[in-house]
Amino acid sequence: MRDRIRALARTRARRAAVGACAALALSLTACGQNSEGGGNGGAGDDSEGGTIGIAMPTKSSERWIADGENMVEQFETKGYKTDLQYGDDKVENQVAQIENMISKGHDALVIAAIDGSSLTNVLRRAEDAGIPVIAYDRLIRGTENVDYYATFDNFKVGELQGSYIAEKLGLEEKGGAEKFNLELFAGSPDDNNTNFFFRGAMSVLKPYIDDERLVVRSGQTEMNQVTTLRWDGGTAQKRMDDLLSRYYGSERVDAVLSPYDGISIGIISALKSAGYGTGAKPYPVVTGQDAELASIKSIIAGQQTQTVFKDTRELAKQAVRMTDAVLNGTKPEVNDTESYDNGVKTVPAYLLDPVSIDKSNTQLLVDEGYYTADQLA
Ligand code: BGC
Repeated sequence: MRDRIRALARTRARRAAVGACAALALSLTACGQNSEGGGNGGAGDDSEGGTIGIAMPTKSSERWIADGENMVEQFETKGYKTDLQYGDDKVENQVAQIENMISKGHDALVIAAIDGSSLTNVLRRAEDAGIPVIAYDRLIRGTENVDYYATFDNFKVGELQGSYIAEKLGLEEKGGAEKFNLELFAGSPDDNNTNFFFRGAMSVLKPYIDDERLVVRSGQTEMNQVTTLRWDGGTAQKRMDDLLSRYYGSERVDAVLSPYDGISIGIISALKSAGYGTGAKPYPVVTGQDAELASIKSIIAGQQTQTVFKDTRELAKQAVRMTDAVLNGTKPEVNDTESYDNGVKTVPAYLLDPVSIDKSNTQLLVDEGYYTADQLA
């Protein structure tokens, strides 16, 4: 903690120095490091707040595009410049982007890690340069150089998915009179959230698996048997193809736990190829996450069954608030100081509430201004 305070003092001193340079109208070269920028902004006038480096994982999923745009907008409203970079789901790209942000002397870093455990070395450099780090949505593991964490209640995301399956199949009401076939998918093994989502879902589903009201015909019930590297929909589709052809000859799958909409879409493609989606062979219950447009449309069309809405505008707001507070030497508001142990420290976090969406409440997304009615038509 003392190191952190020293680092913050260094940050503030550096910002003050840059401000002084501007005031004295010295040449930019004389003012040195802080005067560069990149991406969406960056030129080093240290406007009011300086420049924030935002490292996002990939543009292949809508949510991260929205997260990046929301943060840029909100930081700029507060007088910051931003440098938004996407790592194309390649760890080495993200590390290089963060290194670059540090070299440019950005004032703070907001990072949604591709691989939560691969940033230890680069974040040591951030610490040496006195640059505070906010973990965005995904916990950064194995380092003390992460100050705060803005995310959703990730265990609850999994619980919402698990309890949706239980309720939709009517497991309680049927009291064991009927058995249902379930298959399980989890997210990327290098994302800390994967574990939270899976544990949350299994906290609801496991008792039903144990008493055989739910049958996992593949027998693949451990997280390490069901992960999906980099959350890739194509990988999930292949696994689902394989599960259907190996374990479901004349049997039907009744529910599939999917942790993310991109994975759900892959699973549904496999189901479609195997003849699901007809009156005689309806789609199973398929969960999801992120309320991506393609999935909301799929839910309206009766293919995917459920998703979990996480309002990225609210998450951006929290991350911006946290960063702003840290740069101003004050303590950001947190509401969880226990759940997110990254292996070196427990990172103080602010958790937002996820909301379950199915066909009955897609209108909520329009009411909240997340999508327009036209987008869902
Ligand atoms: C996020 C999810 C997202 C997944 C894949 C997770 O870390 O919390 O919202 O579905 O990554 O991008």
